[in-house]
Amino acid sequence: MACAPLQLATAAHFDNSTQARQWMQAPAGEQTSYRRHGNSSVLQLEATFAALERGAACIAVSSGMAASVLVAGALLRSGEHVVLPANVFYETGAQFQHLASSMGVSLTRVTGGSVPALLAGCRPNTRMILVESPANPGLATLDLRTLAAACHLRGILLVVDNTLLTPLAQNVLDLGAHISLYSLSKHLAGHGDVMGGMVCTRHPELHQSLVAWRTCAGNALDPFSAWLALRGLRTLALRLRRHAANAHAIAAMLRRQFAWLDWTGAWNGADARRNRVRTRLHTGLMALRFAHRGQGGAFVDALQNIPVLPSFGNPETGVFHYGGVVEDADALAACEIPAGLVRLSVGIEDPRDLLAALVPALRRVS
Ligand code: PLP
Repeated sequence: MACAPLQLATAAHFDNSTQARQWMQAPAGEQTSYRRHGNSSVLQLEATFAALERGAACIAVSSGMAASVLVAGALLRSGEHVVLPANVFYETGAQFQHLASSMGVSLTRVTGGSVPALLAGCRPNTRMILVESPANPGLATLDLRTLAAACHLRGILLVVDNTLLTPLAQNVLDLGAHISLYSLSKHLAGHGDVMGGMVCTRHPELHQSLVAWRTCAGNALDPFSAWLALRGLRTLALRLRRHAANAHAIAAMLRRQFAWLDWTGAWNGADARRNRVRTRLHTGLMALRFAHRGQGGAFVDALQNIPVLPSFGNPETGVFHYGGVVEDADALAACEIPAGLVRLSVGIEDPRDLLAALVPALRRVS
């Protein structure tokens, strides 16, 4: 499928008011009269994503953070309660902390992140549980089907940030989540040059509220980012296969040569099978757990040709050591990030080059 021609105009030009009225009354999803409401590249991206999410309605926004703020703004009301595990992406945690105080919503952060712990954190006024599985960066997983079933019984919205695995490797709407959300900036656009987000649901009434909120919040995705994201999506399956193959090669090397190192892959968390994670089509994320902050830091410093990258899902491999940039041990512990944890985002390079970079650095810290 070719990308739609890039249209940058902020507004369409009309011959008369009747024509303008007809265009402006087009349903959401077909609206292109004004760019904040819709644009040809953005609409094509949304339609492509709807296919990836098997029939969901999807809307594009300006970043992954804009996706979660949209969900909160559109669907939470003052007096309601939200449950959020401690291990979600730390900026999502900070965002909900801010939103809770400004919106009059109460928030419970749950440590240990198991399904029973999340449900135990619920109250009669709980409206939403937002989780990541696997979570960034520790890659802890949840049994999403069991959590979704419990949420449906209790009338709680389950929102899953599925940025790490993408709908190709794990379809969280199939598992029962009401809403999936994504940062496009990672594997989905896939080239480290797009900032964008996506919110998807198979519930029309939720979609309507989300569209209405995006229009008034004004956080639509810009056309060029949508165009780049579409270009990236065309190779998503191919890239995921290569990320997976490279990560498997690294895992095999670790098992053979560095059995002392504790690590997890985004494909082999405790709940991966239950969540139907597709192991040949997963992302290359790995959490390497060094014994302490110093050993993690020494590993990162010893790496040649692999950059420190405060993002993931790029074609090139990168590492990020939270303990190396955040000195406050309490702040790390609050997000359940061990000080020795190094996130390895395995890229799509020749695996021999990756092993040639990783093995000497691991030897240095053995
Ligand atoms: N969700 C997860 C799991 C993330 O890792 C990130 C960013 O790293 C975000 C959301 C936020 O996305 P963005 O940076 O596109 O706003």
